Formats: sequence, C-alpha cells, structure tokens
Amino acid sequence: MNLTPHFTLAELTASNKARSLGIDNTPAPELLPRLVRTAEMLERIRATLGVPVLVTSGYRCPALNRAVGGVATSDHTQGHAADFVAPRFGPPAQIAKSLAPLVDLLGIGQLIYEHFGGKAWVHVSTHTPEKPANRVITLTSSGASLGIQP
Ligand SMILES: [Zn+2]
Repeated sequence: MNLTPHFTLAELTASNKARSLGIDNTPAPELLPRLVRTAEMLERIRATLGVPVLVTSGYRCPALNRAVGGVATSDHTQGHAADFVAPRFGPPAQIAKSLAPLVDLLGIGQLIYEHFGGKAWVHVSTHTPEKPANRVITLTSSGASLGIQP
C-alpha cells in the first residue's frame, strides 16, 4: 500500500527486529493518517536532497519500541517519526546539517542527528517538541546536545 508516491506502508513498518522476535508491527488503522503525514514529510525531504531516502525505522508498536530500547514516549510509537539514511546524498551528519535550516519549510517538527557506536542516521518527526530548543538536536551515547554536532 502506497502512502505517497515514493513511500509504502510496508517500508514505514518494516523491522528485522520485529520479524526475528515475532512481533506484529501492524499499526492500528487510526494511525494511518499520521503515517501518511510522515511519508509526506519524507517526500519533501527526498525532493530537497534530490536522492532516494531509505527508511531504517518508521512506525514501532509498543512491543517493538521496547525491544529496540526506545523511550516509551517515542514519536515512532505514534506514527509521527522515521529514521533514515540517504547514502547517495552523503553521511547522516551532512544530511542533518543540510536539513536543519529548512525544518519550517519542510514541515519537520523535530530533527535529530543520532550516532551511536559507528552507526548514524537522521530522525525526523512531524511532531514538534514542547521546548523549541529541542527541535534540532544531536543524540549520542554521551547524551543530547543542541544543534547538529558531528
Ligand atoms: Zn528515531
């Protein structure tokens, strides 16, 4: 099922972890409009970067979110968020730096550059955090910092 021209529901719910643990990561029907909004945000990002965007984690049901160690309030469990890479554009730090000045234009509520132990990706959410300062942040094993900090 296509959510938008370039993003399918299958892409936004796929999870090796869910498969390996036998977790059914099918979202409740009422979450579908949110997933469409998330896919629409990804379309704008894709058009801006000019290359394919590969979603590494989209919707996570609560059981999957726990299994991957996500915080309980994660926007992933609400259908608002997606993690992605875009190797043809460049490394995630470069993607995050390019998108940071465009969050309003692209309808990105929150942009997080995440890098943990050699793995890095970009997290985007349609949901805007309560504290405006948290809108563009970097998350690593040593914690959160404001802005994009490679
Ligand atoms: Zn994420």
